[in-house]
Amino acid sequence: RDRINIIGAGLAGSEAALFLLEKGYLINVYEMRPKVKTPVHKTDLFAELVCSNSLGNKNIFSASGLLKEEIKILGSNLIRLAEVSSVEAGQALAVDREEFSRHVTNKILSYPNVNVIREEVREIPENTFTIVATGPLTSENLFKYFQKFLGSKDLYFYDATSPIIKYDSIDLNFAFWANRYNKGDSAYLNCPMSEKEYDFFYEELIKADSIRSHFPDEERYFEGCLPIEELARRGRDTLLYGPLKPRGLKDPKTNKEPYCVVQLRPENKDKTLFNMVGFQTRLPFKEQDKIFRLIPALKNAEFVRYGVMHKNIYFNPSSLIKESLESKKFNNLFFAGQITGTEGYVEAIATGLLAAINLHLKIQGKPHLVLPKTTVLGSLINHIISVSVEKPAPMNVSFGLLPPILKKMDKKRRYEEYVKRSLHDLNKYLSDFKYDYENK
Ligand code: FAD
Repeated sequence: RDRINIIGAGLAGSEAALFLLEKGYLINVYEMRPKVKTPVHKTDLFAELVCSNSLGNKNIFSASGLLKEEIKILGSNLIRLAEVSSVEAGQALAVDREEFSRHVTNKILSYPNVNVIREEVREIPENTFTIVATGPLTSENLFKYFQKFLGSKDLYFYDATSPIIKYDSIDLNFAFWANRYNKGDSAYLNCPMSEKEYDFFYEELIKADSIRSHFPDEERYFEGCLPIEELARRGRDTLLYGPLKPRGLKDPKTNKEPYCVVQLRPENKDKTLFNMVGFQTRLPFKEQDKIFRLIPALKNAEFVRYGVMHKNIYFNPSSLIKESLESKKFNNLFFAGQITGTEGYVEAIATGLLAAINLHLKIQGKPHLVLPKTTVLGSLINHIISVSVEKPAPMNVSFGLLPPILKKMDKKRRYEEYVKRSLHDLNKYLSDFKYDYENK
């Protein structure tokens, strides 16, 4: 039988490899490190964690905790290996990064049916089952190949993202719907600030410490897309003529242009999530929490993802990728990891597992998994493949992506209900499945 190719032995590729190796497939794992380096990986180990050593909250009543539980039910190897390598970190599943990567590497190498090729892949082999999991730092040559083969329209590259906020955490008493100069339907939610509020916000913003970029040539990135704190440093009024300009926006409460306005743009069709327009930032998450909540409408804001500054290559999943994570254009080619438009370690592991399961099901001639949208993984996949904004931002799992529970209840109860519903629906879905994807 032909071998299955897995390109990139990061988090997604390693999870995919282990699932398929366990099923007995012959696997080629292509990993370019150590021959070709990325700007952030430091070792030649598989599944290296490039920054924090935390795989997020362990508490099942958080979106990240629930994602880990869901993928354990689906058979994740990496989460089990993370638990084995865990270090004391309170509510977080933090790991000894070297031990974790070593466990993953040794487990993959222990299979007789694996062939590890330490080469940079520069083009995707045709007519072979392949999972591409080359991550946000996909090599330059492969990036160029994707540009040619997929067209640059659907291949994104960014250095910075703005925070994304849950709609139901925005205080609508301090916000109004309007487009600049009333053009088109009111798509933007505008959060005005008075001069006094702006002054305080501005002072706090310039005081806040910036984290260093992970990239040595950071200045090159900044010119294209300046972080908000960098703009602020250029002078008190720069923001007032930039992302906070109030021109063409009338507050219905005063019938006047506010002193300045922070605009929020819907991030998904259901308008449950909003993006802070022009607020790309490299502020530490704690500072983002503190400073952006000084905007009156955002005083109770819940951030489903914070702004980040790091290089990221990813596809427009809604035009290139099917729900099964298979390519829309090319048969037998699957994508996994951050390149699919998700963000985060555990999200990468989850899509690696899903791509591998669906590839396996395809070989078996079975339909792919359609995870209930009430699960955090199902809702994330649904989000990335259906998001319609011009340039979608890579997305973490979030309770904000789930179909809402409309009954009135406090947040703690609501989260408990989300978890109960997810695990019930996932277990029911898997047991209703007419065949067992666990067995070959
Ligand atoms: P990776 O884990 O990066 O794996 C991709 C693999 O493919 C790498 O081993 C790479 O060497 C290899 N590769 C690339 N091109 C080729 C090629 N042409 N041929 C062969 N091999 C190739 N998420 C968090 O949850 N927490 C964080 O703290 C965090 N920090 C981040 C910091 C930075 C600087 C970046 C860039 C991302 C960060 N992320 C973080 C986001 C994301 O979760 C990680 O990047 C995650 O590792 C993505 O998993 P992946 O499997 O998609 O890619």
